[in-house]
Amino acid sequence: MSGVVILRPGREKPLHNRHPWVFSGAIAHVEADPGGLVDVRDGAGQFLARGYYNPHSQICVRLLTWDESEAIDADFWRRRLARAIEGRAALAAQPDLNAYRLIHAESDGLPGLIVDRYGDCLVLQALTLGIERVKPMLVEALSALCAPRGIIERSDVDVREKEGLAEATGLLWGEEPPDPLEIREHGLRYRVNVHTGHKTGFYLDQRASRRWLLTEATLAGRDVLNAFSYTGSFSVCAGAGGAASIVNVDSSGEALAMARENMALNGFDGIPTDYLEANVFTQLRIWRGEGRTFDVIILDPPKFAHNPRQIEKAARGYKDINLLAFQLLRPNGLLVTFSCSGVVSADLFQKIVFGASVDAGRDAQIVAWFGQPPDHPVLLAFPEGAYLKGLACRVW
Ligand code: SAH
Repeated sequence: MSGVVILRPGREKPLHNRHPWVFSGAIAHVEADPGGLVDVRDGAGQFLARGYYNPHSQICVRLLTWDESEAIDADFWRRRLARAIEGRAALAAQPDLNAYRLIHAESDGLPGLIVDRYGDCLVLQALTLGIERVKPMLVEALSALCAPRGIIERSDVDVREKEGLAEATGLLWGEEPPDPLEIREHGLRYRVNVHTGHKTGFYLDQRASRRWLLTEATLAGRDVLNAFSYTGSFSVCAGAGGAASIVNVDSSGEALAMARENMALNGFDGIPTDYLEANVFTQLRIWRGEGRTFDVIILDPPKFAHNPRQIEKAARGYKDINLLAFQLLRPNGLLVTFSCSGVVSADLFQKIVFGASVDAGRDAQIVAWFGQPPDHPVLLAFPEGAYLKGLACRVW
């Protein structure tokens, strides 16, 4: 039995536009269980959409269907999972790739659910109470659809708190995966710690940028700085591209240790490579003071802005590191720079990078734009799903 949510007058428009969220402020009246299903209706009682409800969250309802005759039962969840998995068929068919995102939450019509594939292991994140309640059903459907060896949970994320949920991790189905496990991408090998690594273990969302580095960037014989390196995925690509030397900078010693393993795993341990545990903001200033320069600089920082109030501060952070990078680049240098802050638009990010180039007194041309790869799709009705943007800039 579904509960019911009645909207305040004039608050129907986002639902007509198939936006998957209903905020608490749009609601006039509720009769529903936390985590349970609800039919959302206008003041006249007209059906608008159906979803799941959580009174603890500002996003009170996450919508699942706009079709009144569509029941949200085990078959519904199985159909939605199958539809998302079908969308990854081209990736699944690539022989040199076995890690990608299977389910990308709202953008796959499955709000609150993330599932990543790492070879024969699936890693699941349940971000909402509504998903938490159907988790056993989802695990069963995923095991039938994907026949993995094991499914583990990495719901150790802050957003669970907003949903009134504690963190949850551990084996959900099948066998515990090895620690670390190994994946293939573009013919390269990476060790991934799915139990404790960032996100679900690896920055799967940077696959297209890694491909670009392998196929379109000139890296042979060049000195590369990989700032915010994490486990060194861009460094492995630089190694494959024939870089003369590589410097990894990250604040996590553990990530750097894995970066070293990843270089060796691909046979690049002969390339002069540094692993520097340091704050990028400080380290770039030290190098500027010393007059140290690089041919290629990659900047892939963590999310600087988590909400619109943080945009200005984030913009200053992006400006700072990009300005320093422009100052450290040699002539004919390449800056590959990213932002994963959803609230910083691609347009604003480009303006920030432009401002940094002006202040550094460097002319730069954009030679590539980066976004999310197809396994991290953006629903047209949900532009908030777009978060990753990047630019490759050549400077003279
Ligand atoms: N480019 C990486 C992903 C980067 S994630 C990849 O391809 O996998 C961001 C990284 O920045 C994390 O590893 C985090 O440990 C590191 N980090 C965050 N703040 C930092 C800082 N101020 N200085 C150095 N590293 C930082």
